Amino acid sequence: MQVDVLVLGGGPSGFGAAVGAARTGASVALVERHPVLGGMGTAGLVNNFCNAHKDGDRLIIGGVFGDLRERLIRRDAIYTNGAWGLEPYDPEIYASEMAAMCAEAGVRFRLGSTIADFRCRGDGAVAQLEDGERIAAAHAVDATGDAVFAHAVGVPTRHGRAGDGKVMPLTFCYELAGIDLDAMAADWPWAVRRDERTGQAYVSISMHPEASALVASEQRAGRLHIPRDHISGILGTPGRPGHATVNFGRVFISDPTDPAQLERASAEGREQIADGVAFFRRCIPGMARIRLEREARQIGVRESRRIVGLHTLTGAEAVACTQFEDVIAQCRYCIDIHSPDGPTTVLRDFAPGTHYDIPWRCLVPSAGPSCLVVAGRAISADHESSSSFRVSPSVMAIGEAAGVTAAIAARQGCAIAAVGPGPVQERLRAQGAILD
Ligand SMILES: Cc1cc2nc3c(=O)[nH]c(=O)nc-3n(C[C@H](O)[C@H](O)[C@H](O)COP(=O)(O)OP(=O)(O)OC[C@H]3O[C@@H](n4cnc5c(N)ncnc54)[C@H](O)[C@@H]3O)c2cc1C
Repeated sequence: MQVDVLVLGGGPSGFGAAVGAARTGASVALVERHPVLGGMGTAGLVNNFCNAHKDGDRLIIGGVFGDLRERLIRRDAIYTNGAWGLEPYDPEIYASEMAAMCAEAGVRFRLGSTIADFRCRGDGAVAQLEDGERIAAAHAVDATGDAVFAHAVGVPTRHGRAGDGKVMPLTFCYELAGIDLDAMAADWPWAVRRDERTGQAYVSISMHPEASALVASEQRAGRLHIPRDHISGILGTPGRPGHATVNFGRVFISDPTDPAQLERASAEGREQIADGVAFFRRCIPGMARIRLEREARQIGVRESRRIVGLHTLTGAEAVACTQFEDVIAQCRYCIDIHSPDGPTTVLRDFAPGTHYDIPWRCLVPSAGPSCLVVAGRAISADHESSSSFRVSPSVMAIGEAAGVTAAIAARQGCAIAAVGPGPVQERLRAQGAILD
């Protein structure tokens, strides 16, 4: 296959890149190793939007993300009033709407296909899939989350936090069924919400002090062994009463891109699922008769490698709500650092009416092949800022900008860096992105 733009990876950023490039007029191929689109949002069962995109009732992220969210709303597949501004969605409908949007835009995609090899040459990029298929492209977007192929072709990268390179811990997410919402609401009224549009009741537990107190007392009694001091999320699945997905484990490793470490982390993550389910059955109102419906297809990686780009977005810039002239996306999700070596989480929220910008230069490698641009959580940033923009609404918007950049570069026959932010911003605005 020969295309203008090849997107490596089909998580939220790869999806945004593929649709963004196709809407700009490029021929596009996307390759994803899982049999579904969505990355961590489907394969990782992290099926909710963190609040990067809303400032009160005002949306600050539009474009491909806004269109997808609108489609989920139309299908009653998302709750928009979860605790902490979280918006849980049905992962199957999410994946099918992503596939529909790719198809409508003309994206050709290969699901269940692993990219075994990737090269950049003078005249573009070539990927070799595990089944032997070759895809050649003028330009490529690395949307693997780990900057796998940017690293392989010589783009400089950093790993984890400054100083010791440690990364945020991993979590194996899962879905529960059989939650008795009436019993839960009787003891923990704050834990059950009602969706504004459908009227459906659903679990919405995130960072609540009553749940954290229970975690602490069970840990002290030696009955709970998960090394974290709170429950990040137990969130109802739209359209499935009594179901919820859980984000509660915490596994420490030094390098999630090392397959051997990842395998050990997955085994520990599964042990934590058993520990967590037993704790919920024992202690949480309405959960005495829950069952483990399914585990995610893979353990969730929050942080690994990031490229060194033309600019590195820092936590200080995010906290100062910095506006950049080359903005390609806005974000207002809190700084959310899961400690790389302890049970705590640092949270620092943004005041109403404030957000920060993500600059185009963070997507553009500072060195390496000129046909490659990077999307998603692996853009050029430090540990602190990436703890915020790594969530799915913002990485989808970053992906769209990466796709638009690659499409313009393909049309003009120029290097990624030569595109510059101006034409990208113009095209993003025309596609409904919100940049101010
Ligand atoms: C435990 C956990 C909880 C989180 N909670 C939330 C939350 O509540 N809300 C929220 O909005 N965000 C949350 N996030 C963050 C968010 O889900 C991720 O940061 C986001 O999905 C990153 O998007 P991405 O496209 O950069 O990478 P990913 O989602 O990781 O997608 C990368 C894709 O590339 C594919 N890929 C990689 N290598 C290859 C290859 N060789 N061949 C083919 N395909 C390949 C992978 O299979 C994957 O699908 C959470 C993350 C984790 C880990």
